[in-house]
Amino acid sequence: MTTRREFLIGTGAGIAALGTARLGNAQDLGQRPEPELGLIDKIVHPQGRPLRLPLVVSTWDHGLAANQSAWEILKDGGRALDAVEQGVRVTEADPEVRSVGYGGLPDREGNVTLDSCIMDETGNAGSVAFLQNIMHPISVARKVMEDTPHVMLVGEGARHFAMDNGFPEEDLLTEKSRRTWKEWLKTSEYKPWAPASDPAHDTISMLAIDKQNNLSGSCTTSGLAFKMHGRVGDSPIIGASLFVDNEVGAACATGVGEEVMKTVGSFLIVELMRQGMSPQKACREGIRRIVARNPDWRDVQVGYLAVDRSGRVGAFCIQPGFQFSVMNEQGNLLLDAEHWEG
Ligand code: ASP
Repeated sequence: MTTRREFLIGTGAGIAALGTARLGNAQDLGQRPEPELGLIDKIVHPQGRPLRLPLVVSTWDHGLAANQSAWEILKDGGRALDAVEQGVRVTEADPEVRSVGYGGLPDREGNVTLDSCIMDETGNAGSVAFLQNIMHPISVARKVMEDTPHVMLVGEGARHFAMDNGFPEEDLLTEKSRRTWKEWLKTSEYKPWAPASDPAHDTISMLAIDKQNNLSGSCTTSGLAFKMHGRVGDSPIIGASLFVDNEVGAACATGVGEEVMKTVGSFLIVELMRQGMSPQKACREGIRRIVARNPDWRDVQVGYLAVDRSGRVGAFCIQPGFQFSVMNEQGNLLLDAEHWEG
């Protein structure tokens, strides 16, 4: 288990160098740069000066490996869209990440069902929902975006489309996840959110800005563990789990998808940034909307992550425990998001 605020993978001068991050083009957004913050504040509450571009951010600690793969594309001047697809494919293929792709925990009937979406700098989007037996839903979502007149394919239609396009059919339920499901069946107690130690959720959502200053985002998940068969969460819903507006910035989500969908969270956050809010404040406001309509907010977890196009990063969650990974030429960091204080 990683420890909080740990500097995990250094590719450069690391934390100290973050203090030299340039101002970027915050003025393009009609905003004044925010006041200087202490070095640690800039990192742990990264609402100060923009980070150097190119930049990739993603949810949770599995974002560190995903960022590294995305970085290989970004550092060579590649497109953010390619980076966010390749990055999350690492997580989809990792059987130890039991909330995404291969090895994901199944629904209550034992089926691994996957949701995913992708969005590029032109505002194009593609998504798949309730997809089974295909390891890389993110790449199927990209194919839907690029090769069909549609945005979203679901279920059998999405699976047939994937197979017609050469994606192999695979059994995604690992022995470990099967055992966890069998264990769960003994009580069949269902709670959408459980503390962070529980692998029942932890979608990977990723946002990147490339050297051309273009943004893209991706999101992929096996959804909430032991969900009802047929349940689809926020992760394939453009505007809920993910939204990219190249003029402004991008936002993405993890957590109880029903709450994200009901507040159209990522679109809301990007629109708030368009009106001049920093990514950090916009993420906080996104969380406030959920808390405000939920007397039982202590039983819900949602985490938001956002970047504006100048490279400022924001992250906010309801419960403590949501971590996110940030990578640029100065390093790959795992950080704690701020949380709602009540
Ligand atoms: N947002 C996902 C869903 O509701 C769960 C997660 O983030 O792990 O399906």
